[in-house]
Order: sequence, then C-alpha cells, then structure tokens
Amino acid sequence: MSKIKIVCPNCHKTNAIPSNKEVKKANCGNCGHSLLDTHPVSLDENSFDKHIQNSDIPVVVDFWAPWCGPCKMMAPNFENAASRFPLKAQFAKVNTEDHPYLSQRFGIRGIPTIIIFKNGAEVHRVSGALDANSIVGLVSQFA
Ligand SMILES: [Zn+2]
Repeated sequence: MSKIKIVCPNCHKTNAIPSNKEVKKANCGNCGHSLLDTHPVSLDENSFDKHIQNSDIPVVVDFWAPWCGPCKMMAPNFENAASRFPLKAQFAKVNTEDHPYLSQRFGIRGIPTIIIFKNGAEVHRVSGALDANSIVGLVSQFA
C-alpha cells in the first residue's frame, strides 16, 4: 500500500497515511490532532524545516507581518484556499516580524509573499495580495 508523509500541524511529527483511497479521518499518531485540519499552521525556525523537509505534499507558505495591510486583507483568502486542499497541500504562515531569520533566508523583499515548497525545495514564488481563487489556481498546479 502506498503511503504519503504528512507533517502534523499541531506537534510537527511526520505521519504516514495511505494515499490510495479517500481519507475521511486521519489523526496524528503522536498527539491525536486531525491531519485533515486545513487551518494554516504558524511556523517558526524549528517547525518550518520539519514541514519543508518531511512533507510529501506541497507546503504553501505565506510570509506576512502584523503591520502589513495587504497581508491582513489576504489572510481570509489564504484560509479559504487552504480549506480546499485537505491532505493535498499544507498551508502555513511565517510571521516575518517574529522570525526575521526565515525571511532573510528566503530573501523576502516584500510581503505578502507566498512560496510553494515541494520535496524541500522552492518551486514557486509570488508577491502581493491574492484572492482565494488565484491562490487555489496557483496551488492546484503543484498539489
Ligand atoms: Zn501531532
């Protein structure tokens, strides 16, 4: 049976779940949190690498900051888009004010910036606030 690796959005442990059928229920083997939770996960330096390195599904990261108006405008669109990709893409957020090392590491110049990672590598980057449909269209190319 083929399996895909999903990183728990709550405890950041890697779980392997069957990929060959419609999954109705999947809980983290470590903490019991639902792996179907599509709410974007907030990442720091430590959890960021766990998701980027261990996830078999694309990780869609919104680099934002609390003082950024367009970021706040995009936040509900990002959540809305995330809800369409259970077990297909992991949506995540990096607060660049709290974690400047991460924005430096990826050379973030303007926010919001969305970077899509697959198998540990950046595969796409877009800057500026997007509506939900644009985010869904973008992620669909990689999920
Ligand atoms: Zn967990």
